[in-house]
Amino acid sequence: MPISPPSRLLLGPGPSNVHPRVLAAMAEPLVGHLDPFFLSLMDEVQDGLRSLFGTTNAMTLPLSATGSAGMEACLANLLEPGDEAVIGVAGVFGGRMCEVAGRIGARVTRVETEMGTALDPDAMRDAIVRARPKVVAFVHAETSTGVLQPVEDIASAARENGALVVLDCVTSLGGLPVELDAWGIDAAYSGTQKCLSCPPGLSPVSFSDRAIARVAERSHPVQSWFMDVSLLAGYYGGERAYHHTAPISAIYGLAEGLRLVHDEGMPARVDRHTEAQQALLAGLAPLGFEPLVDAAVRLPPLTTLRLPDTVGRVGEADVRRRLLDDHGIEVGGGLGKLAGQIWRIGLMGHNARAASVERLREALDGVLAGS
Ligand SMILES: *Cc1c(COP(=O)(O)O)cnc(C)c1O
Repeated sequence: MPISPPSRLLLGPGPSNVHPRVLAAMAEPLVGHLDPFFLSLMDEVQDGLRSLFGTTNAMTLPLSATGSAGMEACLANLLEPGDEAVIGVAGVFGGRMCEVAGRIGARVTRVETEMGTALDPDAMRDAIVRARPKVVAFVHAETSTGVLQPVEDIASAARENGALVVLDCVTSLGGLPVELDAWGIDAAYSGTQKCLSCPPGLSPVSFSDRAIARVAERSHPVQSWFMDVSLLAGYYGGERAYHHTAPISAIYGLAEGLRLVHDEGMPARVDRHTEAQQALLAGLAPLGFEPLVDAAVRLPPLTTLRLPDTVGRVGEADVRRRLLDDHGIEVGGGLGKLAGQIWRIGLMGHNARAASVERLREALDGVLAGS
């Protein structure tokens, strides 16, 4: 018996639904990872990622692992035990960065903000001036709260003080403008399962020449053999020497996903995400759902909504369960302090369209009317 998963509309914080063209590409026959066909496809993928990241960085590649591994790769290459790091924490994923940097042995200064608000660039600047860090790291699009962070102000404070900047672009790449070079970012990572409409399993990463130079000056080798960017350069740097076996089928999928982005064009794609969020807010407002986040810093691909009493009476987890069981729709619950208080609704990649919102609204009408 073949496995037959249920059909779901994935409107949580990721994964989002995979585009049918991506699924079809992934079912194509394997070739070897050193096959000329595959190498030219890898060139195309790396070029496509450079364009999406807004960079000319030579070391831009799809790491064979999920977004969290991209986070680990950026921090593990740029930090050594005892190094100072300043990390902005506006939610769960900023917190994860602190955990990763701490395990590397870095001395971490956490600069926190209330969940649901944006990092304060002045507070970041103060911490940077005090700690004189090697690395400043933060999240562009914080998926746990639905807040867009002020990248340019923080990045310039970091660079003026000689620090390298690491940016989490997991929920922004492919859904929002990302401009690593213009913003002065030295290392960034993303994931394929959010705004790129591919399955989870790859982490697009990019390292600037400054970052690569820093890695070359390290006094200890990078602790992780697999993630050491100077070794990854053997394959992804153009020489195409064996490092590890690239996940062929996943790369087929990403190549197709990047073609879809290219065909649509980023400006149109950004507009589509913004319009889908407007439709969501307008569609659910009559049911009593209110946005958690101020309009100025709201993240289009991921909306956080305060729950109305009608949902509270049934129990928010039960309502989500009925959306899934009876309507095949997944939405995300709140994390940390926001658990039980909000939902996180992702309209990412292929799913960022009015039809997704319409299905959700009808299903919610049904679930809440019956209770
Ligand atoms: C999803 C996410 C991650 C982690 O990615 P995985 O693919 O789940 O490992 C990291 N940062 C942000 C902002 C995310 O949304």
